[in-house]
Amino acid sequence: MSNLERTLSIIKPDAVERNLENEIKEIFKSKGFNIVKNKKIQVSKSEAEQFYKVHETKPFFNDLCAYLSSGPIVVMILEKENAVAANRELMGATKPEEAAEGTIRKKYGLSIDKNSVHGSDSIENAKVEIDFFFKD
Ligand code: UDP
Ligand code: MG
Repeated sequence: MSNLERTLSIIKPDAVERNLENEIKEIFKSKGFNIVKNKKIQVSKSEAEQFYKVHETKPFFNDLCAYLSSGPIVVMILEKENAVAANRELMGATKPEEAAEGTIRKKYGLSIDKNSVHGSDSIENAKVEIDFFFKD
């Protein structure tokens, strides 16, 4: 049974700053993800707050939004069978030191906040997040 899905991936400022954009894109492609659309942008603090609205009551919310808006990011629509779960697996745990070998966060993550990539956590959120960045 085919279950082609789309998910939203973000290469976060810490990774873009270290020129890891192409390396990380190659990892996604080598794992069978099709990069349907991508663009390098910088979001404002208020756009970051909208994007991370689900976290607005968390103690780390302000720092998180300041960080996401601190520099260029690369937003991508990834497509693959079961893309949402497959991307979460490839990303690894939120804390890089807890991420499994072979995951992007294990390889590139610097800390819980500078963990190099974002990925949608459900099919429903993937749709909302893709719309957020690629409305047209
Ligand atoms: N985050 C943080 N401190 C925390 C928890 C999360 O700075 O204590 C950041 C981290 O960069 C994470 C993002 O907030 O990627 C969103 O948190 P979430 O729990 O959704 O983790 P993710 O889905 O990115 O693994
Ligand atoms: Mg999340």
